[in-house]
Amino acid sequence: MADGSSTGASGGSQAYTPYTIRLTPTKGYGMFATQQIQQGACILEESPLVVFPSAEEGDQTPWHMALRIEVAALSPSDKAKFFGLHCCVDELEDEYKKHVRQDLFETGEFDHMDSPALDAELELVSREIRIRNTNCTQFASRSESGCGIYYTYSRINHSCVPNAYGTCDAANNMYLRALRPISLGEEITISYHEQDNLPRDERAKMIESWHFTCSCPACDGPERDKHEILRMDMMDIEGTLHGYDLAPQRQGGPLVEQGLLFLPDENAALLAIRYIGVFAAAGIKGPSKTETYERASKYCTSLGSFQAAVNLAELAHRHECIVHGEDMAGWTQKLLKRARRRLEKEAQASDAEDGQDSVLLRASQEAMRGF
Ligand SMILES: [Zn+2]
Repeated sequence: MADGSSTGASGGSQAYTPYTIRLTPTKGYGMFATQQIQQGACILEESPLVVFPSAEEGDQTPWHMALRIEVAALSPSDKAKFFGLHCCVDELEDEYKKHVRQDLFETGEFDHMDSPALDAELELVSREIRIRNTNCTQFASRSESGCGIYYTYSRINHSCVPNAYGTCDAANNMYLRALRPISLGEEITISYHEQDNLPRDERAKMIESWHFTCSCPACDGPERDKHEILRMDMMDIEGTLHGYDLAPQRQGGPLVEQGLLFLPDENAALLAIRYIGVFAAAGIKGPSKTETYERASKYCTSLGSFQAAVNLAELAHRHECIVHGEDMAGWTQKLLKRARRRLEKEAQASDAEDGQDSVLLRASQEAMRGF
């Protein structure tokens, strides 16, 4: 994210560094491709500068005190990196500063609440908190939760149609992967909030705290109106499909009878498949797109269109491998295995080529061609 530090480009030890970090005319520092990057390629592998529990999970130790301990333990060079990171969020509110002052006093390191040393420490911790709030990344791993600050990753600017996605493994290492082919010289971007399917005004609110105006193609490009229409369409589809989401597992029940849940019919499954195409048109290729494939696959299973379910599960898995890498795509691998088992079971139970020319099968084949 943006400016305020040296131009050191490499935070990891990997030999493959297809990017450089350099100043942009309007956005501070940014990451740029120094060669053509293939879809799914790992652009950056980086260990964290600082790791600490997320604010919600800070139990005995308030998270800002955990941060203080982590920063104090850094080597001099890492400390310089940390304090060189960009800091653009607002000053802390007075009430919050009072809490921090109290917590610092309770460490027993200061003689009294108004000591100049405590004042100085409060200013230091306040800056640490603001640097954290500007640059921290929530862990994307399914098994781990927490926040981390990654030196190089922090230089990547935001886009609502990002071309890269960062994910963490259980050891908190960050992997940045290309969501689509990236051209030489193109800026490499991520989404700071991953709510890229929201309308423009709502996306703007999501980035308010960073104090910048997004100039991505969906917000400020010649096709911004087209992007907005697609996102309104997505909101409508999401709203319609929401009522079907729990039904495939329930197969009826009082909520279905009351009209609160719906068993997916062919129209719902076709809409779920069409939704995939809307994501593609809107340029949204992150983890939320994997879920659109998964949902469509489950609807097809519940309607007995098992080959279509396999096709869509395969797309879910292929997409997940691009976003998170093959090692972390275990859940879509399982989804695909389950869909294949179901298809085999049906084939054994019946000689009929069930659904071979069904509307859903053809729609799923269309989705495969469009992948
Ligand atoms: Zn934008």
